[in-house]
Amino acid sequence: MDLDRVECITSSNGIDEDVHLLHQYPSKPHSGGGGGGVVAAVISPSTSVHELLECPVCTNSMYPPIHQCHNGHTLCSTCKTRVHNRCPTCRQELGDIRCLALEKVAESLELPCRYCSLGCPDIFPYYSKLKHEAQCNFRPYTCPYAGSECSVVGDIPFLVSHLRDDHKVDMHSGCTFNHRYVKSNPREVENATWMLTVFNCFGQYFCLHFEAFQLGMAPVYMAFLRFMGDENEARNYSYSLEVGANGRKLIWEGTPRSIRDSHKKVRDSHDGLIIQRNMALFFSGGDRKELKLRVTGRIWKEQQNPDNGVCIPNLCS
Ligand SMILES: [Zn+2]
Ligand SMILES: [Zn+2]
Ligand SMILES: [Zn+2]
Ligand SMILES: [Zn+2]
Repeated sequence: MDLDRVECITSSNGIDEDVHLLHQYPSKPHSGGGGGGVVAAVISPSTSVHELLECPVCTNSMYPPIHQCHNGHTLCSTCKTRVHNRCPTCRQELGDIRCLALEKVAESLELPCRYCSLGCPDIFPYYSKLKHEAQCNFRPYTCPYAGSECSVVGDIPFLVSHLRDDHKVDMHSGCTFNHRYVKSNPREVENATWMLTVFNCFGQYFCLHFEAFQLGMAPVYMAFLRFMGDENEARNYSYSLEVGANGRKLIWEGTPRSIRDSHKKVRDSHDGLIIQRNMALFFSGGDRKELKLRVTGRIWKEQQNPDNGVCIPNLCS
């Protein structure tokens, strides 16, 4: 049994993940055979250990407790609860037998991260793989669109085309913007999300969100920016938002949040420009019956280079 052989397979082993796999992340093709047999008996040179650890019913990787029937057919604990005590392979009564041998075999395995095909070079013991994968920097991103629950996942270029083609999102190039948000009956709006706008600058993508919600007792509007990439990279950028009229204005300056943080999480942490409804209507001008806000903004790159230390302008000749 060749335990050291490590190969890059992309498998869907979602124990509690509900990842919507896309065509660009093919799941491992199901390896046919009804699995099964007593563990010790079925390990033949032609059967890889990986295949033994694949549940023959749902094809996900199995984690303890791994179950087996009286005839030795294995299945995962999720499937066990679904099959009404009948072995899906031989139709015999399933009983409650654990397959400790296979659990021990799994313990001795080292496997590449499931996102190895997306660039993750790391290799993990079977049982710590899941923990890493939940945090892996190479894991796909969830669609940042906030108007509906969208479960599409993918890398950034894929999500950018998805936003453009499937959500018909406005795409803008450049690092400054001037955006108008209009709503004819703002007082009836409790929870509204305006169409997302995506900005492309510095070779990166940023999502501008705008929405209405209730902050405590007060109805407010909020605008904020999210970065399409990881948190570490997001810190390289700053942005400002400005809204106003009649000689008054509100300015927000901040760091864009990564789209790893859900749009709701950012909203609930108030990390953005918050405008009280009364102020928003004042800024809208007219008869205060209609919301007509002009939000201008700018994105810039921070000049920090952590390797060279901080350069203080006056001291650097
Ligand atoms: Zn299963
Ligand atoms: Zn069976
Ligand atoms: Zn990884
Ligand atoms: Zn989407």
